[in-house]
Amino acid sequence: MRKREDAKNIALRALPQVNELVESIAGTKYLKDISRDLIVKSAREVLREARETIINSLNSGTNPPVAEINLLAEKVIERVLRTVEPSLRKVVNATGTILHTNLGRAPLSPRAIEAVSRVSEGYCNLEYDLLKGERRSRQQHIEPILREICGAESAFVVNNNAAAVLIVLSTLAKDKEVIISRGELIEIGESFRLPDIMRESGAVLVEVGTTNRTRIADYANAITERTALLMKVHKSNYRIVGFTEEVSIGELARLGKEYGLLVVEDLGSGALVDLSSFGLKDEPTPRQVIAQGASLVTMSADKLLGGPQAGIIAGNSVYVERIRRNPLARAVRIDKMILAALEATLREYLYSPNPYKTIPILGMLTEDTEKVRRRALKLKRTLDKMEIHNIEYSTAPDKSRPGGGSLPLAEIPTYTVAVKHKSLSVTAVENFLISFNPPIISRIRENSLLLDMRTVTDEEVGKIAEALKALDRRASA
Ligand SMILES: *Cc1c(COP(=O)(O)O)cnc(C)c1O
Repeated sequence: MRKREDAKNIALRALPQVNELVESIAGTKYLKDISRDLIVKSAREVLREARETIINSLNSGTNPPVAEINLLAEKVIERVLRTVEPSLRKVVNATGTILHTNLGRAPLSPRAIEAVSRVSEGYCNLEYDLLKGERRSRQQHIEPILREICGAESAFVVNNNAAAVLIVLSTLAKDKEVIISRGELIEIGESFRLPDIMRESGAVLVEVGTTNRTRIADYANAITERTALLMKVHKSNYRIVGFTEEVSIGELARLGKEYGLLVVEDLGSGALVDLSSFGLKDEPTPRQVIAQGASLVTMSADKLLGGPQAGIIAGNSVYVERIRRNPLARAVRIDKMILAALEATLREYLYSPNPYKTIPILGMLTEDTEKVRRRALKLKRTLDKMEIHNIEYSTAPDKSRPGGGSLPLAEIPTYTVAVKHKSLSVTAVENFLISFNPPIISRIRENSLLLDMRTVTDEEVGKIAEALKALDRRASA
């Protein structure tokens, strides 16, 4: 007992002082730009843990470890670096889901990224008219472009599409009735439920038709003097197939006109170009919907549009003006960085010789499958050269999904690299890839881990190979 107590005291006394430990790493390159307070705090924590380990080992009857200052210093550095690592990080999306809400939906175009940094590094003319030298709405930077793209009289942008729907209904249908088909009462992930948004806006929901069939007469029969608008919601994240009938926006617009009612379509995904020649059908553009007589359309900017998170309202200028004056407009106001990214993205549609090249989402949706296959082969060849021993891998054709609540039935041909470890389970491999820097997010099917090359960039192929090599090495060690 006495001997143990001595060993403990020796081990505890051998621990360096906080200052000594901090000084031992003072010159470390990685810590150059890190606050001394954080280093001191981490050193204290590491020493406290070391002390606890010594005391616990005594209680459990084993010999207390004698901590070396070098090892403690390494622990401090590790802890500091872990603390300063941002929580929001870049990841590699190898899921094949192009608009993955959990992975940030649309990646931005290089011009959009440049625009964000340009307007945020200093001051900008956010609400300032440079010609007249006076205040001007921030919406003016973007409204003319949206008018042109959507073929609309007017437009207004807010935080996201949920906010767009909320402010449209709150402005134009508060305490009034909104008629909508039962087949379109949607829920999108992250708790966007149309009936809930409608309640928050103060509008009264009137459901018509059945889940699978709604006819124009259903809408007509539900119209009363309390009706404010007829609403159509694009079925962006699901489809009803089989024995179905729905009313087109054109028919609904004619009915609205007859009764002097507004007709609004929530488009959700906001495809600005016709993607049907790429096999992506059923995504009407705002231009088409407005041309068919809708008073207003709403859409997200970070789905098929390929921009930052924002909500776009476009259409009749009288209604847009009323929305602009709603006090809620301030609560859902778009920020300058988003505005810069959105303006740059929309300009790609108008002025880029090939928006399919410059807007990443469009590129990924329409990239030739042969090119995707070549990326899969490039990964395979890189792995061949690395002499991997514990992992089997092979390429195979497969299907990707657009995702993000868009084109739910569409399947885009792709190529994957399937990975199988000789001893680790598929979830262990998945977790290893997630813990890599950069984290690599994959998809699992049955017992295989699939790396889908449609959502991976050429530059990221090397990172994936590195990760697999690290996994191979770790497991064989
Ligand atoms: C995605 C979507 C929304 C919600 O848009 P956010 O930009 O995510 O707020 C609303 N309606 C439809 C039809 C959608 O597809």
